[in-house]
Amino acid sequence: MTATHSHSDLDCIFCKIIAGKIPSKKVYEDEEIYAFHDIHPWAPVHFLMIPKTHIASLAQVGDVHRGLLGRMMTLAPKLALQEGCNPYPQGGFRVLSNTGDEGGQEVQHLHFHVIGGPRPWLKG
Ligand code: 5GP
Ligand code: ZN
Repeated sequence: MTATHSHSDLDCIFCKIIAGKIPSKKVYEDEEIYAFHDIHPWAPVHFLMIPKTHIASLAQVGDVHRGLLGRMMTLAPKLALQEGCNPYPQGGFRVLSNTGDEGGQEVQHLHFHVIGGPRPWLKG
């Protein structure tokens, strides 16, 4: 199996987090999704949702990932409330995925930031 086809990347810090080789504060886990607190939060609530399989970014997703992405997007509001975001519409949250260098992506494993809680935030 080549690196391109493996489910985890030995050099990827998020794959190491999924494998438990790097500690993280877990928010949620199932067979295909892992969510954990961002190490540098910029709001009262700031966690990351990642697929357990290594996908470099949103630029690499295809039809085969429709179910996974749908499940991640429907999970986001549930986890946001669970982690302390206030209810919509006065509360709410932000979901974002930095993609590629110009998109501001630093870790090359697809992730969705879920950010919320009372303002002010450090950024955004
Ligand atoms: P990006 O800029 O790629 O969208 O965001 C990567 C995010 O991952 C950053 O917000 C950064 O704080 C977070 N991060 C990077 N390394 C680690 C880590 O080892 N543990 C955790 N929990 N978050 C990390
Ligand atoms: Zn990875």
